[in-house]
Amino acid sequence: MVRVAVIGAGAAGLCALRHMRAKPSVFQPVAFELGERVGGTWVYTDRTGIDKNGQPIHSSMYRNLKTNLPKEVMAFPDFPFDSTLPSFISHLEVMKYLQKYTEHFNLEPYIKSKTLVERLTPIQENGTNDVTWELTYRDVNNSQEKTTQKFDGVVVCSGHYSVPLMPKLPGMNSFEGEQVHSHDYRDPSRYANKTVVCLGAGASGVDIAIDISSKAKQVVLSHNKPFLTSPIPANVSQKPGIRSLEKDSVNFRDGSSVKADIVLYCTGYRFVYPFLTEDCNLNIDEDERVTPLFKHLIHTQFPSLSFIGLCKIICPFPSFHIQTQFALSVLDGSLKLPSREEMDADTEEDFKARMCEGLARRHAHFMGPRQWDYSDQLAKMANVSPVWKSIQELYDMIHETRIKNLLDYKKINYELTGSDSFKVIN
Ligand code: FAD
Repeated sequence: MVRVAVIGAGAAGLCALRHMRAKPSVFQPVAFELGERVGGTWVYTDRTGIDKNGQPIHSSMYRNLKTNLPKEVMAFPDFPFDSTLPSFISHLEVMKYLQKYTEHFNLEPYIKSKTLVERLTPIQENGTNDVTWELTYRDVNNSQEKTTQKFDGVVVCSGHYSVPLMPKLPGMNSFEGEQVHSHDYRDPSRYANKTVVCLGAGASGVDIAIDISSKAKQVVLSHNKPFLTSPIPANVSQKPGIRSLEKDSVNFRDGSSVKADIVLYCTGYRFVYPFLTEDCNLNIDEDERVTPLFKHLIHTQFPSLSFIGLCKIICPFPSFHIQTQFALSVLDGSLKLPSREEMDADTEEDFKARMCEGLARRHAHFMGPRQWDYSDQLAKMANVSPVWKSIQELYDMIHETRIKNLLDYKKINYELTGSDSFKVIN
C-alpha cells in the first residue's frame, strides 16, 4: 500500500482523495485540512484577518461572487453540477457541490479537519535515492501536542489565493485613506459613496470593480493592460497603473491624479508553503516562479512530492482531475517519468518558450491557451481520458464573450451535448 498525505481539502485535495479511493488496494490516503469544513476557497466567511482559531483567514471569496465559468465547464469531469442550476452560479452553490462530491465518493472518513500541517521533510532511505516523508501536524486548537507520521508520497493541495502579493509603490505610507488587498474584500456596502481605486484588471480586479460600482460614488480601474472595450458601469473609469500615492490622492502613470478614499489592491497572491523544510529544495523566486517542478506538478528531485493546482489561468477542476491522475500514476509506479535531467530540461524549455513569446517572468505558471495541450500531454502520459473538446471550446468561447460583454456574459446558459459539442440554451 502507498501511504499518501494530502495537504488541504479544497477542490484539489478532494480530487486527490477521490482518485485514491478508487484504488483502495493501492493507496492509503489521509487528507489534512486546517479548516473545519472541506471546500477551501469556497468556504465563504464575512471575517477577515484571523479566524477563531488564530489562523489567517484562508478564503478570498466575496459575498456577491458568481462563478466566472459556467458550471458545465467548471465541474469535475466525473461529477456534474445539479442540472437545474443556471450556468453561472453563486459561491454557495459551488460549496454545496464540493460537499456533495465529498459525500458521493465517501471522502469524509479520510479527512482530518481542524488540523494544521506544520512541517514536511524528506527522509533519505539508506543507500537509495528513494525518500519517505515525515509530516508533522497538530490540532489547530492545541499548539502543544504535535504528531509526526510517515508517508510514501505527499500531494500538496494547499491553494495559492490566500497570501496577498502587494506592490511596492512610492507614497504608500503617506496615503491617509484605506488600503486593502482583494483577499479582504467581502461586500460593496462599506464602499458606499466612496471613491475607490482598484489596482489590477485580472478576473478578480474587474469583477470586484463592477461589484463595488453598485455602491461607490466612483471606481477607477487602474491597470497596465489594454483598456477594456466592453461596456462598463457609468461610474467606472479606467486609468493606467499607479505611479505613486500621496496624502489623499493617487497618481497614475499618464500624469493624471484622483482624490481617493480607498485603494483596493487586486494584485494577486504569493505561492507560500511554510510547512516545507529546506531539505525539500523547493525554490520560489522573486517572480513567483516555483522550481524544480516537471509539468508544474512533480518535484523533479523528489517525484513522490507533487503540487496540484499550482498553474494559473486554467479551468481549475478539470485540470485538477488530470493532474491528480498523473501524480497518482507516478506514485503507484504505472507511469515511468523521464530522468531528472530530462524533466529539468523540459521545465527550462517551457519557461524559455514563455519568455520568447514575450511573457513576463511572473507568468511562469500562467496557462491560458496553453492549458489544453498541457492537459492533453498529461492525460496521454498517464493514459487517462483527456478533457473533453466541448469543455475546451466552451471555455474559450466564454473567454471571448466576457471580453465583449462583461456586464451580461453571466446571463447566458449552456449545455454540453457530448464530448465535442455544446449548445447555447438561452
Ligand atoms: P483551496 O481551495 O485554496 O484549498 C486549499 C486548502 O488547503 C484550504 O482548505 C486550506 O485550509 C488548506 N490548507 C492550506 N495550508 C494548510 C496546512 N498547512 N495544513 C492543512 N491545511 C492547509 N475557479 C473556478 O473554477 N471558477 C470560478 O468562478 C472561480 N472563482 C474564484 C474566485 C476567487 C475570489 C478565487 C480566490 C478563486 C476562484 N477560482 C475559481 C479558483 C479556485 O481557487 C479554484 O477553483 C479552486 O477552488 C482551488 O482549489 P485548491 O484546492 O487548489 O485550493
